[in-house]
This record gives sequence, C-alpha cells and structure tokens, in this order.
Amino acid sequence: MKVYISVDFEGVTGSTSWSSTNLGDIEHAAIAAQMKAEAMAAAKGAIEAGADEVYIKDAHDSGRNFDITGFPRQCRFIRDWMCSPESMVGGLTPEFDALLYVGYHSPAGSDGSPLSHTMNRGNNYVKLNGALCSEFLMHAMYGAELGVPSVFLSGDKALCEHAHAFDPKLRTVAVKEGVGCATISITPEEACERILSGARDAVEHRGECHLDVPETITMEICFKDHYRARTAGFYPGARQTGPYTVEYTGRTMREVMTFRMFVL
Ligand SMILES: [Zn+2]
Repeated sequence: MKVYISVDFEGVTGSTSWSSTNLGDIEHAAIAAQMKAEAMAAAKGAIEAGADEVYIKDAHDSGRNFDITGFPRQCRFIRDWMCSPESMVGGLTPEFDALLYVGYHSPAGSDGSPLSHTMNRGNNYVKLNGALCSEFLMHAMYGAELGVPSVFLSGDKALCEHAHAFDPKLRTVAVKEGVGCATISITPEEACERILSGARDAVEHRGECHLDVPETITMEICFKDHYRARTAGFYPGARQTGPYTVEYTGRTMREVMTFRMFVL
C-alpha cells in the first residue's frame, strides 16, 4: 500500500506568527522540528495500518523546512517544488491508496487562525463553486479526481470543521485553535500521539472517505491588489468579474489547478 502525506507549517501545534514561517527565522527551527515530528507520527500510523511506501511532501514555502533523518525506512521525501499544477501534492498519481494532510491551516477569508491564507497572502479568498476553498479542499478535490481518497487531516480546529462539511468521514485531529492573533495549542507530545492513532485509523478505513468532484468547477480568486486580477483575467478562458476578482471554469481539477498555478 502506497500513501502520500502532504505537510504544511501553519497548522502545526504552536505555530502562531508569520515571521516563524520563514526558514532562517529564530522561531522557525522549533516549529519545523514539530512539523517533522507530526509528519513522522502520521507516517508511523500509516505504516502500522499496512502502508509499505510513504511519500512525504514538505509543502511549505521553501519545501525544505525539516531534515529527513530518523524516519522509518518505508518513507520517501519530496522536498522543494515540482513546478506542476498539483503543487502541495506534487507527484501524486492514481497508484496511491490514500492522501493525508498534516499541519494544514484555515483558508483566506476565514478567522480560524492568525495564519489563515490560501496558497499565499496575496488574496482575500479563493472559492470553488461558490464555497470558500482551503488548500486542503483544492488538493483533496485533485486527489479525488485521480481516485485517491483524502483520509486524514491535522491542523487548526476551524479547518477541521470546514473539511468535515465536505466529507464527514474524514478523520481529523485539531492541534490548535486560533483566536484573533493568538493560538491555543495542545502539547507537541499529545499532537503526535493523536496524529499517529488518527492516521492509523484513517488509513485502515480509507474506503469510507469520498469527495464528489463536480462536472464543472469554477474557481474564483479575490486578490488583495486590483492589478493582479487584471493580469489573471488574461489567462486563456479566465474572466475578470470585478476590480479584484477573476473566475475560471474548468472541466477537471487539473485544468483549474493549472489556472491557479499561473495566476495565484
Ligand atoms: Zn499552507
């Protein structure tokens, strides 16, 4: 069994400030160590559930946040970026049996985390068919199109609630809650324990998870700067719908993710 784990930074327990998300910042190292610990916990859970190949994508910023020492030998690591539409699930193919997310965060347009954003900080929100779209949702829809179920998510509490609205069977672990500029986090040790058992349970029951991919998918992006909406409006098939907004309708998530890759 082959599983894919995409690991972000802003939904790791304890992560709170934008400065700490930057490689080299004085606070970065401690959160990156926890990012690694949570990724390892998910990998161990998947292996206990029978996975014999575990691909782990460092999916934050540089893609080189944590060192890869000490992981079980079933693990493979995707570091930095493949420069392809699937982005945070780079290299995902239909051969994978399950997709897991660790350290994910609330989307732009929500107040679930002081670090709420979608892909970058240049937009006020991204929507898919009218619903607020998180990084989790866009990659989960992409996985669903390939036939790979998204089975596990850890991150902030509001993101877990957002994700449940799309698939009530998704196993989630909320490691923190955002309140204004603050976060309330569980301990690193408890986060890892709950992620390990949650990932194991999720991979064991991977057949229960399902996301519908609509026949046509419209992505709307509301940029923070009006000139970026104008630029994006020139993408073939895209239309500028207001000073800050642009829309693109695709027949597949891959088409929509390609639009996103060029404009967001
Ligand atoms: Zn992110």
